[in-house]
This record gives sequence, structure tokens and C-alpha cells, in this order.
Amino acid sequence: MVTARVVPRGRRQARRSSSAGAPLAPGTAWAMRRRRPSFGCARCRQAGSHAPEAPSKGDGRPRLGALVAGRRARTHPATAGPAAARGPAGLSLPSPTATASQALGAPRLGSRAMSAIAFHLPDELQDVLADLEAFLATEVIARHEKHADLLEDPRRLYDEDGRHSAPAQQLIREVRQASSAAGFFNLSVPPSIGGRGLGYLAYYSAWELANRTCGPRNWLGTFALSHWAFGPSAVLEQVTDEARERFLPGLLAGDTSMCFGLSEPGAGSDAAALTTRAEPDGDGWRVHGRKIWTTNVTFADWMVVFAVTDAERAARRRGGISAFLVPTDAPGFRLDRVIRMHGHIGGVEGETVLDGVPVEPWQLVGPLDDGLRIGLLGVSLGRVYNSARSVGLARWSLEKAIAYAKDRVAFGQPIADYQGVSFPLAESAMQVHAAHLMGLNVAQLLDQGGRAVKELSMTKAFSVEVCLRAVDRAIQTHGARGFVNEEGLVEAYNTLRLINVADGTNEILRRTIFQQLAKGDLDL
Ligand SMILES: Cc1cc2nc3c(=O)[nH]c(=O)nc-3n(C[C@H](O)[C@H](O)[C@H](O)COP(=O)(O)OP(=O)(O)OC[C@H]3O[C@@H](n4cnc5c(N)ncnc54)[C@H](O)[C@@H]3O)c2cc1C
Repeated sequence: MVTARVVPRGRRQARRSSSAGAPLAPGTAWAMRRRRPSFGCARCRQAGSHAPEAPSKGDGRPRLGALVAGRRARTHPATAGPAAARGPAGLSLPSPTATASQALGAPRLGSRAMSAIAFHLPDELQDVLADLEAFLATEVIARHEKHADLLEDPRRLYDEDGRHSAPAQQLIREVRQASSAAGFFNLSVPPSIGGRGLGYLAYYSAWELANRTCGPRNWLGTFALSHWAFGPSAVLEQVTDEARERFLPGLLAGDTSMCFGLSEPGAGSDAAALTTRAEPDGDGWRVHGRKIWTTNVTFADWMVVFAVTDAERAARRRGGISAFLVPTDAPGFRLDRVIRMHGHIGGVEGETVLDGVPVEPWQLVGPLDDGLRIGLLGVSLGRVYNSARSVGLARWSLEKAIAYAKDRVAFGQPIADYQGVSFPLAESAMQVHAAHLMGLNVAQLLDQGGRAVKELSMTKAFSVEVCLRAVDRAIQTHGARGFVNEEGLVEAYNTLRLINVADGTNEILRRTIFQQLAKGDLDL
């Protein structure tokens, strides 16, 4: 399993020390990577690689495509060749004829440190995650330290209207751009629209790692990977050729961002009840309606707007809803208010009015009248993301709680010596581990091409619930310290509390699970 533990210790230390004081420039992680000593193949411990390093652009930085190709070429000889199956983007997977333990990549003592999880992540993905961890240290955590005056002062972080201030927006943009230049931002974006196509397992693992590494306080980490609702993803595979030229390059580079306008004041869980409408106007349409809870609308450049294009079909719930790409500076598009949550003076969710916004055929995403399918694809990606985010934040909080319990003394003993403190943390470990296994499992089901409706619903509902509980236990372990801003535990709690609703509430997920069971899908 890819955790910090599978990265050889010397290698991790080399990264950490080289990150100290590293300039915050795009591509820093790759530059660091080239300075790091080679530790050879993690599996056979041979010095050096199984293929030459990727060629550079001439500026000392490797070309991303060549680097990925170089990594593939370095696949260990034991899994290379005809017997090795290919996963997304050519990641090597175990042969279909391998034994069960080989197929699951069970670690062999003496060749790899034991891990809690027997699923094997392809070596190439492990490399990507190790590099991502270094990137997060230099480009996210260091940026938070450098700009703490801004990022930790709500009066500077937000403008009067509740949007992020211009300097805060600039930091967000810088992280997106640096990550894009370093090859992480688009790691799971389909190659058909310019991404690396590493698939759902990479998406899940990268988000889990980012949340565990950054915790809730280094929140710029949220912008280090393309979130399906803010940036490129499979949701955009069906944009028109004109949109590919006008919209995708900026999004892939991290220069611009988008948001996802599905929910409305009268349509949340029941998204098909939306009433925003696109009325024919010349060759195109004019959109009228209102969107709510839209994350990132406060500074996004584009919104994917869902609107009724065939009222009769929409009323029968047989299509009739289309998706359109709308620039947020289009005439008639207005952010009505920033929605503030959890007592904050600003936020990233907003309510928007669309008052006759003109849209042309090139702005259509996917087939006319079949937009809700795209909406559901987005929500599925959101469920993978939120499952990973939950596990990452829960592990971050559990590690903090264990350290605190070992250190804090009450009645002459470290509080970790009291079962009233230690047993709840053991309970968290059991549940978070189960959630993690479910997440890795469902990501692989999705990579195999399944829709995994039941499994994804179970994973998201279980993950957000048990991980919220784990953060709550971590707060309790800290006593009064659990509530102070600097610890970030309440921020983690608030985040997980929100995602018990976003991308399918826990009740709607149970409804979906039971619908699948009732249809005869009883495999567990
Ligand atoms: C932080 C956050 C970010 C969000 N970001 C976005 C975004 O970017 N874009 C976007 O379009 N939307 C976004 N949403 C909206 C989100 O998708 C909706 O909140 C969600 O779908 C639930 O809809 P609702 O809030 O209207 O609740 P409702 O649908 O009104 O539900 C209210 C309660 O009733 C329960 N309920 C409803 N129907 C049933 C049923 N059949 N059986 C059992 N219980 C039921 C629900 O579980 C819930 O507890 C976001 C929400 C949050 C909290």
C-alpha cells in the first residue's frame, strides 16, 4: 500500500531536507526529484533504473510525457512482458493468471516493508504519490508557512462580500499552475482531453494522501489536484471541438477554474426536479434560473450549468435536461451571494442568478437533453473524492490524537494509559482501515470499467460517517485543546460534517444501496 511507509526512509528524508527553503516555483518537485539520489528499484534493490531517465526539455526539467513513458519502461522485469496486464494509462497490473496473493500484490518480507494493506499499487503510481508528497511539502505547506499572515487572518483572506481576496485567489492559482506544470494536477484526467489518465485508483490515492499530508489547515492542498467540479475531469470528455480550444487549455494549465451548477433552491437530492431553463434563441439558447450551493463559484471562470431544454421530457423524467459551459462573466450571470458556513466571514459556496444568459451550440456539454447523465458522472467522481478525503483527514486526526495521548499526562500517567482514551482511538483505527480498504476496492472496480453503484454508495456513506466519528474522538482526546484554531481539528470536523451531505446525502446513498440490493445485486 502506498503510504509514506513504503517510500524508503532515506528517500523521504532526502526529499524533506531538499524541500527546506526551496523556491516556490512551478515544477519545483520535479527539479527536486532530479537532485535526489537514486535508490534503484524498490522491489529488487538493484541500483539504478531498468531504463534510462526521461529526456529533458533542455532546461534541466524532464518532459512529462517522456517521464511517464520512462517510468513505464522502468517497470520491474518480473511484471513486464506479455504476462503483465495493463491498467489505466499503461500502469502495470498483475497478470490475470497470477495466484491470489500475487494478484493482490501481498508484500513479501525482505523485499518491501510490511504494510497494513495487501492491495498492490503499481510501482509507477507509488512513484507518482511519493513525488506528490514532496510537491505538497514544497508547494502547499511551505506556501502556507510563508503566507500565514494572509491565510490565517480571515479579514485578509476574504473581501467584504465574502469572496477570497485577490492575494488569496492568486495563491490558489499558483498552486494549480505549479501542480499542472509538475504533472500532478491532471493525473486522473482522461488522455482524450489532455490528462495523464491514471484512473480512479490514482485519483483516490492522491486525494487520500493530499488530505492526510496537508490536514485541514494547509487547505491550498485542495487545489493541488484537479477536483472534478473545479477543473478538468471525465465530465468534460464530451465538450465540443470549439470548447476544447477555448476552454480546456486554461483549465488544464490551472490558469482558470470552473464550478458545477446542478443544485437549485428547489432541487437538491432530487436533482431532476431542477427548473432552470434554456429557451431557444436563434441558433442557441437563453438560460434563466437560479443555482445554489455551488462550490468555487466565488472565483470560477466557468460554470457547467444544468438546464431544462425539453420541459415535457423533463417532467416525465426521461431526459430533457442539458449541460452548458457558461463563462461567469457572461451577460445576465450574477453571483447573488456568497454562502457563509460554520461561522466563517467568507466562503466558496454561492448562490447565482442566471437572467437570460446567452449560450451557443459550442457550449453544449454532451448530447442535447441528456445532460443529467454528465451530472451523475460528476457526482460519482465526487463520491470517490469525498471517500478519500474522509480517510485522509481521519488518519491525520488519529495520528495527532495518538501523539497527544502519549504526551499528555493526567493523574500521573500519560492519558494513553487509560483505556477510556485508548479504546476509542483503537475503534477509530478499525473503522478508518475498513473505509480505506473499501475506497481502494471501489476505485479498482471503477478502473475495471464497472459503475459500482452499490459499492461506491456504500464506500462514501461509510467513509464520511466513520471518519467524522474518528475526528470527533480525536477532538475529545485533546480535551480543551481540541477546539483551538491552531490544532485544526474542528476544521476537519466541519469539513467532514459537510460532506455527509455533499455529493449524495447519507440517506440518499442508503436509498441507492437498497435499490441495488432489491434489484438482486446481493454481492458483498
Ligand atoms: C459543502 C457543500 C458543497 C456543495 N457543492 C455543490 C456544488 O458544487 N454543486 C451543486 O450542484 N451542488 C452542491 N451542493 C449541494 C448538494 O449536492 C446538496 O446539498 C445535496 O444534493 C442535498 O440536497 P439538499 O441540500 O437540497 O437537501 P434535500 O434534498 O432537501 O434533503 C434534505 C434532507 O432530506 C433527506 N432526504 C431527501 N430525500 C430523501 C429520501 N428520498 N429518502 C430519505 N431521505 C431523504 C436528505 O438526506 C436530507 O437529510 C453542495 C452541498 C454542500 C453541503
